[in-house]
Amino acid sequence: KAYSKEEIKTIVAQENVEFIRVTFTDVLGAIKNVEVPISQLDKVLDNNLMFDGSSIEGFVRINESDMYLYPDLSTFMIFPWATDSHGGKVSRLIADVYTADREPFAGDPRHALRSALAKAKEEGFTAFNVGTEPEFFLFKLDENGKPTMELNDKGGYFDLAPLDMGENVRREIVLTLEKMNFEVEAAHHEVAEGQHEVDFKYTNALEAADKIQTFKLVVKTIARKNGYYATFMPKPVAGINGSGMHTNMSLFTEKGNAFEDKSDEMGLSQTAYHFLGGLLAHATAITALANPTVNSYKRLTPGFEAPVYVAWSASNRSPMIRIPASRGQSTRLELRTVDPTANPYTTLAAILMAGLDGVDRQLEPTASVDKNIYLMDENERKRAGITNLPDTLLAAVSDLAEDPIVINAIGNHIADKFIEAKKIEYTSYRQFVSKWEIDNYLENY
Ligand code: ADP
Ligand code: GLU
Ligand code: MG
Ligand code: MG
Repeated sequence: KAYSKEEIKTIVAQENVEFIRVTFTDVLGAIKNVEVPISQLDKVLDNNLMFDGSSIEGFVRINESDMYLYPDLSTFMIFPWATDSHGGKVSRLIADVYTADREPFAGDPRHALRSALAKAKEEGFTAFNVGTEPEFFLFKLDENGKPTMELNDKGGYFDLAPLDMGENVRREIVLTLEKMNFEVEAAHHEVAEGQHEVDFKYTNALEAADKIQTFKLVVKTIARKNGYYATFMPKPVAGINGSGMHTNMSLFTEKGNAFEDKSDEMGLSQTAYHFLGGLLAHATAITALANPTVNSYKRLTPGFEAPVYVAWSASNRSPMIRIPASRGQSTRLELRTVDPTANPYTTLAAILMAGLDGVDRQLEPTASVDKNIYLMDENERKRAGITNLPDTLLAAVSDLAEDPIVINAIGNHIADKFIEAKKIEYTSYRQFVSKWEIDNYLENY
């Protein structure tokens, strides 16, 4: 909703709001916030709230550290959970980050997505609609409030209670989200024990990214309230399904969904095919952003409904991109690589710019693959033109470093900081000796 400053002031007074949290996202996707008492509201609304940018991962050096937060008034909301005994409430605003010279900050992921959306608009696309399907696990907390590795239930896909102990927690998550203007379309138990999914309605990419960040906060808050720990780590338990965040997308013009064309055999427009061609061409670089942790690559392995190959299909769930059967306004592509550790702003900026590159250059996608790719051997895959997704964080980051379109989508500042941080993360992982190595090597050599 497009609130004015005056409306926000009125609501804050009526609702007994005592604090305001101004949030933004760092280069690695973590939500940060500055919380101020409501007496500072004017300062916040007038874009005068400052913070120390040098303390934020991937932002700036110490000598240029003063930065401003410009709140996006349309993101105003009051957290539905109560705060103190006399009913004082906490509200939040999501902000864009500005430099001391009052320029948009090149290291702000939200700014990267805004720029990509502006480029789409120049090409006549009024919206880049995105709907995600985040999955997560619930683990029990111990008596000290620390997460254990004990899952909350033994349920499976679409199971009902009593197997599905997460049901009440999930309902509370859904009800809380609804109070926060989410239109929840579905919530269900996922395939793995202790694994859950909540889907909410698609919206333009900037709001979709904001919603993903808010969603994670809500899930973690409500889970903890119920004695559980919610994790969005992609593969917390070896040998069972991991958690993805399938990303459904479509471009809209003033006339509606630009991916639909009833006269085409598959009901897809040339724009949709070219966008798909762009996603396939930049797939490995996008993966670095969509799957940004060491653990992400433990999910992208055969046999667990997660993609392993650069390919697309109309029905099949083994390739990276699926075209769901719905048409009309719901005509869309589903990118299945993305996991919930992705920074939604930079990932969506990269996806959009990759797709638009396909549209600009009229890239034709490879032929669709309608067989189960997990069951094809290497020669069959080669003949079908199917290549592999990167198998480690390091490989993905190298592909990103060599893709100027995707680098340009996130900007040099973010790209440099991201690549540097991820190389350090990978090196730190590589120096660790895992239980698997001890089990397999200690007594054999
Ligand atoms: P799946 O078939 O993978 O189970 P779901 O039905 O769980 O898919 O999720 C579909 C998601 O796609 C929802 O978030 C929905 O809002 C979104 N969606 C529907 N139409 C569009 C569209 N035109 N553009 C982008 N996302 C869309
Ligand atoms: N959990 C699977 C993944 O890792 C996806 C399951 C599904 O199709 O919803 O992507
Ligand atoms: Mg799912
Ligand atoms: Mg899906």
